[in-house]
Amino acid sequence: MKEKPNEHRDIISRLQKEKPFEKIDGKKIHLIISKFREEYKEFSAQAVWFPFLFRYIVLNQDRLDDDPDEIAATIAHELGHHEQYSSLGTIEYFRTMFMLIFRKKEIRTTRREMEIYADKKAIEAGCAHGLYSHRIQHPKNDGEEEFYMTSEEIKDYATSIGKW
Ligand SMILES: [Zn+2]
Repeated sequence: MKEKPNEHRDIISRLQKEKPFEKIDGKKIHLIISKFREEYKEFSAQAVWFPFLFRYIVLNQDRLDDDPDEIAATIAHELGHHEQYSSLGTIEYFRTMFMLIFRKKEIRTTRREMEIYADKKAIEAGCAHGLYSHRIQHPKNDGEEEFYMTSEEIKDYATSIGKW
């Protein structure tokens, strides 16, 4: 069953009130559903920030049939990125984005830290089971797997903080 965008907006609003997202609580986050280009079609969503202007979560329209718990976990992961962007501040955010686009090889450690941070925020927000099954349903590949928590790491972390 396909969720309507309104339901996705409700998920965003609900999760934003959770403690892991206290820096972006009350901030407007726009939701966009889009077809992803070939090179990004493995991704479920993207978090995009234009400082002082807009925060976006872009959902891959090919993933809208996923289990609702998995979609919520995907949204929580992207909110984790927005939470982190807010911590970085504008200058560091632009520097990091520049590195991620043009200096991919030099910034692998940072990329991993950012993805692990977003995974942990999603778990802390109560989305461990959705994230766990999403990672099994849509395993990372093409070298992407080194950046994210494995399904077992998700379960272990969730258990360690009482969120499993
Ligand atoms: Zn991510």
